[in-house]
Amino acid sequence: MNINKLIVVVLLSFSFYNCKVTKGVENPKVKKAINLQKEVIDHPLFKKILLELEQEGAIDWSEGRTSSIQEDLSNYESNIHWLLEQFEKKRGYYKDVVFLWRKFNPFSKTKAATYPCKDSTKLNKWRLKRDKYSILNTLIHERVHSFCHIHPRNKQTKRENLCDAAYIAGDLSEAIISNKMGIKERRMSLPICPALIQKIDEYELVKIIK
Ligand SMILES: [Zn+2]
Repeated sequence: MNINKLIVVVLLSFSFYNCKVTKGVENPKVKKAINLQKEVIDHPLFKKILLELEQEGAIDWSEGRTSSIQEDLSNYESNIHWLLEQFEKKRGYYKDVVFLWRKFNPFSKTKAATYPCKDSTKLNKWRLKRDKYSILNTLIHERVHSFCHIHPRNKQTKRENLCDAAYIAGDLSEAIISNKMGIKERRMSLPICPALIQKIDEYELVKIIK
């Protein structure tokens, strides 16, 4: 085999390795995070804090974040009542619908990819060097997208969506599970919605290291 052919083979196998989609449960940390979803969904403070934030008008539903399900939402007392019912009925991600893949760009900050309204998600393998509680945060966040919630097309960063339902539910999950596991202090991915930080402090869930 000449050197050019060899290079092609190496590059092809590298991209194949990178693009290969595997099951989340094959990664022990992801498997644990999948199992932890029910702990937060069934935790009374998950519901209570989300309802309080909604009542205070702290959750950002603007700019078409729920436009594809507007009709459905009108049947509920509030948008958060709709979201809580989704979590109650559809629960977290079932283990077999969580996949892992490597995003082509290893430096991308993307932690996961979920098509709105689609009942599966893919976690970026380049972004798994974090603990199971942070991965749980991502799963709960993506689950909200699986219920048809989106970020506005031109606003995809956390900073631009800080107080939307997906980021709030994800960050709240991480705070709740930290509390449940007896973690006193935690470095979480910042920024976090200020109204949620207030609740985390008020209920003494965890001290966020800034
Ligand atoms: Zn998102």
